[in-house]
Amino acid sequence: MNPIPFAKVPIGKKEYTYLTEVLKSGWLTTSAKAHKLEDLFAGYLGVRYACAVNSCTAAMHLALEAIGIKNGDKVLVPAMTFTATAEVIRYLKADPVFADVEYRTSLITPEILSQVLNSNRQIKAAIPVHFGGQALEMTGNGTSGIAELCRIHNVRLIEDAAHAFPARHNNQWVGTFGDVACFSFYANKTITTGEGGMLVTNDQEIYNRAKIMRLHGIDRDAWNRFTSGKPSWEYDVVAPGFKYNMPDLNAAVGIAQFEKADAYREQRQRCALMYYKKLSNISCLDLPVCKGALQDHAWHLFPVIIKPEAPVSRNRFIELMAEKGIGTSVHYKPLYRMTYYRQKYNLDEKDFPNAERIWKGTVSLPIYPGLTNTELNYICSTIKCILTP
Ligand SMILES: *Cc1c(COP(=O)(O)O)cnc(C)c1O
Repeated sequence: MNPIPFAKVPIGKKEYTYLTEVLKSGWLTTSAKAHKLEDLFAGYLGVRYACAVNSCTAAMHLALEAIGIKNGDKVLVPAMTFTATAEVIRYLKADPVFADVEYRTSLITPEILSQVLNSNRQIKAAIPVHFGGQALEMTGNGTSGIAELCRIHNVRLIEDAAHAFPARHNNQWVGTFGDVACFSFYANKTITTGEGGMLVTNDQEIYNRAKIMRLHGIDRDAWNRFTSGKPSWEYDVVAPGFKYNMPDLNAAVGIAQFEKADAYREQRQRCALMYYKKLSNISCLDLPVCKGALQDHAWHLFPVIIKPEAPVSRNRFIELMAEKGIGTSVHYKPLYRMTYYRQKYNLDEKDFPNAERIWKGTVSLPIYPGLTNTELNYICSTIKCILTP
C-alpha cells in the first residue's frame, strides 16, 4: 500500500484549461475569472453578492469591518476552531468571547449560544463555525435557531463557512443564514484555489464596503479602470483599505473546482459512509454525529475521538497510523490552549468541558475524493488493529 496522505487535492483537465486561458490573456490578477467565480458562487447559493478575496481570513476581516466592529467590541467565537476565526476580531482591536461546543459535533448549539449571549449582554456579533462541513442549527421554530437567536439579541451573524461548501440546514444553503458568510479555498478545503476565499451577503451596504476595502479603499477596482468606456485613469481613495483581491490565476483553478464541487462532496460522503460502516462497533472510539441528512453535510472533516479507556493515547494513535503510512491531523487544539489567547484573556480549560474532552481524543481521518475503497478498507482495518488488540 502506498502512503495515504491526510489530504490530497484532485486536479483535472479543467484546471489546466482555465489556468492556460489566464496565462495567455496577458493579465494575471483580478479580472474576468475572479468575477466569473463570484457570479457562479452567488448563483449557486442564491445570494445577491459574492466578493472574491485571497483568503477566508481576509473575508472575515472585511465582514467584521463592514458591520462596524471596532475597538473594545465583543464578538462570540467557538473555542474549538482555527485561530483565523478569532484573530480577525483582534485585527480591529475588538475582543473574542469564547464559547464551548457540543461533544461529537464540535458545533455551537442554540443552547450554548443562548447561554453565552444571556450572560454577556455586550456581545455585538457572533462567528459560529459550520464545523467539519456540518451546518449549524441555524433555524428552528422562529426563535430557537442560531440565526433567530442572534436576531432576537440584536447580534450580527457572520458564518464561518470555511469547511462548509456545499452544506445545508433545513433545505437552506450554509452561507445564506447570517448577515454575511465567509468561505475558504485554502489548499486543503472542499474546493481550493491554493489560497482564496469568498465573502457572500444579501446586504448591499456590507457588500459595497467589503468591495472597496478589498482593494486599498479605492472606489472601483482595477478591472473597471481598464475595461470601462470612460476615461478611467482617475480613482479616489475613501478609506485605508487592504490588499485582499483574488488573482485570476487562483480564480481559474477555483472555477474548475467549483464545477466539480457536488461530485467532490458525494465522493467525500462515500468515505464517511465507509468509516461509519467499518468503525462504528469499536467501543473506545466515538464517531462524529451527523445531525441531518448525509447529503446536507459537506464532509470536509471526519474527526473521530479516541476515548480515555482506549489502549493507546491519541498521540500514540497518530504515531502508529503514520508508521502504517496513514496521514492524520487534529482539528483543533482549542484556542484557550494557545499561549496568546490563554494569556490575553486569562482562559481556563475548566470553562470548556466539551471542547476539552474532544481535544484530548480527537484525530481527523483522511477524507477526499481520490481516496479509494481499498485505501479506506486499509485505514479501517489498521484502526481496528490499533484499538482492539
Ligand atoms: C481554514 C479556516 C479558516 C481560514 O481560511 P483561510 O482561507 O486559510 O484564511 C477560517 N476558519 C476555519 C474554521 C478554517 O478551517
